[in-house]
Amino acid sequence: MGRFNRIGVLTSGGDAPGMNAAVRAVTRLALLKGIEVFGIYNGYRGLIEGEMEQLGERDVSYIINRGGTMLYTARSEEFKTKIGIDKAVETCRKFGLDGIVTIGGDGTFRGAVELTDAGVPCIGIPGTIDNDVASTDATIGYDTAMNTVVELVDKLRDTGESHSRCNVVEVMGRESGDIALNTAIAVGAVCAVVPEMPTDFDKLYTKMITARKNGKRNFIIITSEGVGKDYCEHLCDEIREKTGIETRFVRPAHIQRGGSPTLRDRVLATQMGCAAVESLVSGQMKRVVCLRGSAIETMDIHEALYLDKMMKNQLTKEEEDLIPPNRLYDMRRMVADRLALKEYLNYMITNIVL
Ligand code: ATP
Repeated sequence: MGRFNRIGVLTSGGDAPGMNAAVRAVTRLALLKGIEVFGIYNGYRGLIEGEMEQLGERDVSYIINRGGTMLYTARSEEFKTKIGIDKAVETCRKFGLDGIVTIGGDGTFRGAVELTDAGVPCIGIPGTIDNDVASTDATIGYDTAMNTVVELVDKLRDTGESHSRCNVVEVMGRESGDIALNTAIAVGAVCAVVPEMPTDFDKLYTKMITARKNGKRNFIIITSEGVGKDYCEHLCDEIREKTGIETRFVRPAHIQRGGSPTLRDRVLATQMGCAAVESLVSGQMKRVVCLRGSAIETMDIHEALYLDKMMKNQLTKEEEDLIPPNRLYDMRRMVADRLALKEYLNYMITNIVL
């Protein structure tokens, strides 16, 4: 592995608060280590087109507190093709990029694997509000998005209490119910409806009717977008019908993606940005930076993608056979721990906290 003289950094997929903090950390640590940094605009599309600029220390000033991404982001279908990858490799050669730090979700990591296999070493940083990257306990932006939901639902509860109303709130998370489960606890919701486990609606309606009789005026139910399109509208109709309680729905949508990152996301992004540079410089590539407990670690990017598939029940037999048995055991345990935590949170919402 030759020395890294110049690296690129890009943000890709959905934006997430804290991406800027990660770009800043990557840039500052790389410069400290004598490596030049190019900021690539608009994700992989910008890499194909050569939309990039050299970044100095001051180019990343005063962005740690800013939401969105100063490098902008895009989704590129062309990058999923061989022609697209070849063009990206050509651009890297033209600009003299020895490696790339890619900040995004699982799609971004798939792109990073392709690019590494084509000769440009990459390392991934998980940046998505959805927390749907199985290799890390938390992704950059997740904490901020949850705090945004809590702030909004607290306000809804005020008016729900005044008008004696139920509000169903649909939160983001794609196939992951993490935002729904955690915010449900934080706002005192009576239920979280998530894709990972079934909901006992008969039990919920009985609970709501009893609670109403005992004087409870406001009810919050959080649904995760992963349970289906227009789900919360139908749920509102059913709640009205089964309980007689006036019910409305709210979909905060992209508001959840914006805003200034929380302290936790700024710190996580800074730690992950630094870990990515350290990893790349030490010759470790095709890796993803992860938070495991309180430790920042890295994991093989293929393994991280298989772990994701395992979590989503999408791992094929052929893929499973490629994983060494000892790693397969560790991965199964990681998935089991993660699902057990979700079930425990759901149990608390359903049985204890109301
Ligand atoms: P989020 O989950 O927050 O939306 P993401 O990184 O998963 O983030 P995607 O749109 O899935 O978002 O992926 C971002 C980009 O990564 C795509 O537009 C594409 O350019 C690239 N990409 C995704 N999948 C692949 C793949 N299999 N091969 C090559 N590139 C890919």
